[in-house]
Order: sequence, then C-alpha cells, then structure tokens
Amino acid sequence: MNKTIFFTGAGISAESGVPTYRGRGGVWEQYNYEEYACQEAFDRNPKKVIEFHKVRRKAVGFCKPNAGHLAITAMQGATIITQNIDGLHQRAGSKTVIELHGSLWKNRCNYCDETQEIIPGEFYYKTLCNCGRYFRPDIVWFGDSLKEHNIRQAMHAIEHCETFISIGTSGAVWPAAGFPELAKSHGAMCIEINPEPTELSYMFDECIREKASVAVPKLVKRMLEK
Ligand code: NAD
Repeated sequence: MNKTIFFTGAGISAESGVPTYRGRGGVWEQYNYEEYACQEAFDRNPKKVIEFHKVRRKAVGFCKPNAGHLAITAMQGATIITQNIDGLHQRAGSKTVIELHGSLWKNRCNYCDETQEIIPGEFYYKTLCNCGRYFRPDIVWFGDSLKEHNIRQAMHAIEHCETFISIGTSGAVWPAAGFPELAKSHGAMCIEINPEPTELSYMFDECIREKASVAVPKLVKRMLEK
C-alpha cells in the first residue's frame, strides 16, 4: 500500500484559473457569503443561491487540471485529502479523493437525502428533488459542519501515512489546519509546497517555495525514483 498523502488547498488550483475565495479578485470580494453561501441564505432565497452556484460551476467547468494535479496521479495508491470543491483531482484521474468541504459537482436534498451528480461542463441539471424541494449544493457552506465520515477517513489515513505533502493551503481553515500536526505526531515525513510561508511552515521537515505546477512534478519524480 502506498502511504503517501497529498493534502491540497486552493493554491493547487490557482494555476488552473479557479477563482480564490479570499484576497484580491476573490469570490467573497464580489459577493457577500451571507447572501450566497450559507443555509440561511438558501432557505430565504434558494433560486438566488442556486443561480450563484450555477455561475461558479460554469467558471470552474472551463478550468482544467494543471501539472500539479496530473503529477499526483502518477503516485498510484496515494490518498488525496482536499479542501477544494472544484473536482480537479478527479478530472486529472485521481481515484482516492476525500473532499473535506464537499463538491461543486454534487447536489443534495436536505429533506430526503437524495443526491445528484453533476457532470463538469454540463449546465443543465435538475434543481428540484423528486420530493419537490430544491436541491442544495453538497458543499460545506459557512456555518455547516464537515461530514463526520470524511473527517474520520482522513484522520485514519493520516495516522497511517509515511509521507504527508501539503500543497497550496494556508493552514487557516479548521479542522484541516490540524492535519499536518497530526501527521507529524504519527511520525510522517512532512513536506510543504507553497510559494509563501504559512502559519504551519515551522513544523514541516521540508518546505518547497515554488508553485505547485513546478514543484509537484519534481517531487513526485524524486519519490518514484527512490
Ligand atoms: P487559502 O486561499 O487560504 O490559501 C491558498 C494558499 O495557496 C496560500 O497559502 C498561497 O500562498 C498558496 N498558493 C497560491 N498559489 C499557489 C500555487 N501556484 N502553488 C502552490 N501554492 C499556491 O486556501 P485554503 O487553505 O485551501 O483555504 C481556503 C478555503 O477556501 C478552503 O476551505 C477551500 O475549500 C476553499 N476554496 C476552494 C477552492 C477550490 O475548490 N479550488 C477555491 C477557493 C477556496
């Protein structure tokens, strides 16, 4: 079994053109999340929230996996734990992907637990569940809890990994921000790929200050040649 974990954040998709949430040009600069990305907003005005996510799906649907996503697929049997909702790891060909914050490409009904898969690039899908209620995007909005099953699965993989590679995450969003420390405390070799230092950089064994599209292919090649 391959005991490598790739733990990814918005930075790995930045070079694919996926808009970030925060910072200059970020989604929350343009839109108030209280109107578009929380259950209360959906309950108040589902059509407005659905339309917002339709626009996001369209933008992300045009983005393609980059060399960073693609290089990860060469490490067969590795586990990917991602905070991203863009589905680019799966589109690159990765199989074992734990999506901590859900997916833009899934809907769910809060009432009957019905789910709906959406094909990236396919913009015509049902907005109503068979029970007559609106589907909501199956992503973790502000105020939502993470799925217990996903956290348990991620923690189990981390506790048994030998190498933990963090890519493009600031380490500011919990509980994901605690994962590098968990890996370290279980004896994993911890590597950070990020052009900028992060709040968690101090605890990594190696920090690679390059963009994901450059650093990940080099690191994967180095590991496969070992
Ligand atoms: P973040 O925005 O807090 O941090 C992004 C990090 O990526 C920064 O530290 C930055 O220095 C680094 N970075 C920027 N360009 C990079 C590159 N080319 N290569 C490598 N690193 C690069 O992102 P986060 O830590 O993932 O947390 C933000 C939250 O927003 C998460 O919960 C995530 O679910 C969500 N989000 C997801 C997407 C997506 O699905 N693609 C996009 C935006 C935000």
